[in-house]
Amino acid sequence: MKIALIAHDQKKELLVEFAIAYTKILRQHTLYATGTTEKRVIDATHLPVHRFKSGPLGGDQQIGAMIANNEMDMVIFFRDPLTAQPHEPDVSALIRLCDVYNVPLATNMGTAEILLKGLQEGFVDWRLIQQNRS
Ligand code: PGA
Repeated sequence: MKIALIAHDQKKELLVEFAIAYTKILRQHTLYATGTTEKRVIDATHLPVHRFKSGPLGGDQQIGAMIANNEMDMVIFFRDPLTAQPHEPDVSALIRLCDVYNVPLATNMGTAEILLKGLQEGFVDWRLIQQNRS
């Protein structure tokens, strides 16, 4: 499965802790991340992660393009709901595309844990079946 990791600045530490805690599961999948998030995750876990541009410089949109092309299976996006983001339209667009294409999206750690555990149990395999059909 292809999984995108994104965290706003105030949530990056939390995402790093999450990635450390779930390294064993994440290692089994293909990971993508926006620029700064990627660096933090790689430094902490040494997992292979494909790097996109930084979120405010278009990284969110690059991930959105993969979603629109049915090339992304899950998005873990630790948003900061308490800080205004200069690229808020990109953030909204990314979330919208997840809903358009039924891509599982976690915007906080509680949901992210459930998604990764569900992924391990095969609850997201329907995406692979769907992709093989198209
Ligand atoms: P960053 O982007 O990982 O490059 O900080 C995240 C974002 O703010 O969308």
